[in-house]
Amino acid sequence: MAFAIPLWSQPAVPVTGGDPFPVRRIYCVGRNYAAHAREMGADPDREPPFFFMKPADAIVADGATIPYPPKTANLHHEIELVVAIGTGGRDIPVDRALEHVFGYAVGLDMTRRDLQNAAKKEGKPWDMGKGFDQSAPCSAIRTVADIGHPAKGGVTLQVNGEPRQKGDLSDLIWSVAETISYLSGLVELQPGDLIYTGTPEGVGAVVAGDVLTGAVEGVGTLTLTIA
Ligand code: MN
Repeated sequence: MAFAIPLWSQPAVPVTGGDPFPVRRIYCVGRNYAAHAREMGADPDREPPFFFMKPADAIVADGATIPYPPKTANLHHEIELVVAIGTGGRDIPVDRALEHVFGYAVGLDMTRRDLQNAAKKEGKPWDMGKGFDQSAPCSAIRTVADIGHPAKGGVTLQVNGEPRQKGDLSDLIWSVAETISYLSGLVELQPGDLIYTGTPEGVGAVVAGDVLTGAVEGVGTLTLTIA
């Protein structure tokens, strides 16, 4: 098909031992670890899961260097387990939800915290705090056939070799299956969707020159450099 303007390339994430995974949409879960919810000033006991989005072309490959983004003086790291959806569906029951998973990756939900906080305070959308260019670094995807469904294991981030974030998948308030089920009641999930599942405590600022090294035990590692 011809288009009115040149067609861009499909955003994609490498798959270990396979063809790349085309990224359709990126959903992110907010405040999905109790300790992080508390450090953000929220009560983790009273909240159903809530979601925000990043554009598909915010994906950044493992090992990349990104520029410090514009209009912020408080760029934060959030290390997260990423779920890659292989088959879509709506109103997916919790006990069938994991059948829709293609694989898992390690992601960074990079956040312009100053813009997010200002938006929160004024009751405005988070989009420009969360969904900016190159805000979604993501490691290669490991398939379910390769690693199964990790339900426990460390979620960690170091900056210049110093420990910053440390949590465990078993501390997710809403499990991967519950998150898929809940989200599929709000939107019809589609193949190619990614879900960033939330970050543990210890979020903080990075500056130009920092090297971020994240890991999810049983899934992989992710390195990002801020230019
Ligand atoms: Mn996050």
